[in-house]
Amino acid sequence: MCSRALERRDGLIRWFERNRRDLPWRVPSKRRNELRDPYRSWVAEVMLQQTQVAAVVEKFEAWMKALPTLRSLAEATDAEVERLWRGLGYYARARNLRKGAVRILERHGGEFPRDRAELERVPGVGPYSAGAILSLAFGMREAIVDGNVFRICARTEGWDCAAGDAAFVARAWEIAREFCDCARPNLANEALMELGALVCTPKAPRCGRCPLRAACVSARDGRAQERPRPRAKAPEKAVVRTWLLVRSKGRILLRLPGRDPDGLLKDHFQIPSLPGILSPAEVSREWPGAKVERRGSLRHSITNHRISGAVYSVELAGTRRAPEGCRWVVEEEAEGMLNHALARKVLRAVVAEDAHAAL
Ligand code: SF4
Repeated sequence: MCSRALERRDGLIRWFERNRRDLPWRVPSKRRNELRDPYRSWVAEVMLQQTQVAAVVEKFEAWMKALPTLRSLAEATDAEVERLWRGLGYYARARNLRKGAVRILERHGGEFPRDRAELERVPGVGPYSAGAILSLAFGMREAIVDGNVFRICARTEGWDCAAGDAAFVARAWEIAREFCDCARPNLANEALMELGALVCTPKAPRCGRCPLRAACVSARDGRAQERPRPRAKAPEKAVVRTWLLVRSKGRILLRLPGRDPDGLLKDHFQIPSLPGILSPAEVSREWPGAKVERRGSLRHSITNHRISGAVYSVELAGTRRAPEGCRWVVEEEAEGMLNHALARKVLRAVVAEDAHAAL
């Protein structure tokens, strides 16, 4: 951001104070001069990484109801935090929040460290969330560069670069550091992020309503929408599988975390699957004597993986030992253990059809 944009920082803060959204992790408008709570800020900023605000609000409120304090998070189980995280993806982030809470309690007496390097050693805290906690909760002159801030830098400076281009990210951090070097760094940072969310949006920047337009290269040359270029996408990979919902005497067979053959969902319990599309005869060979029924197909995407395949119900008459890497689980408990949307889709494909057939 050029010096002219920096001169407009006060104007941007005034714009923010007029236009800020009341969000559950922010202090309410009537207490706008207060700083945020560090625990709430941390959880919110981690939830907001790669997820839209609208999707986060409900999850954040449910999380805070269940785990209102750092200590309650440290005392929770991974299963509990994963359940509260459902729908946000990247479950390692939820587990890291719990690990981070344990570290802050054990090494820092329950207080967030105020030194950036020390804070970044806490699991679940990266450069972005460290900047958010230090500036928004402690009022320190610490920068934040998220996708919004990077986009504003690229546009105001006229950078013809791709999103996330390392050399330009380093320049964005320099600019962000200058930008928050002021009396109200928390408001300067929040104003910049809010401008990116509400005005300098990725697809339709509203330059006519922007408090930075007089200092913005892209507003002058009309190329805001071209900056920054989208990241090059990883090539798509097709994954074809057959899922087997194997049941026996009120129990379901689940594959243990870390045993997924594609390594795609290594941190999650899964419905067991085999490569390719299997015929009923092939499934019967895997499970001799079982009642085998095909229950449809499904499609799912995880990052650049396009997953598709067939779903079978496999009913065993008696009990059998769980195969290597699997475990029998009482049916009522299985849904609670399957955090990943793909596994729940497979479960629903069979269970919903059972319920329909029972009507
Ligand atoms: S003038 Fe347009 S491109 Fe420049 S910062 Fe504002 S919204 Fe973004």
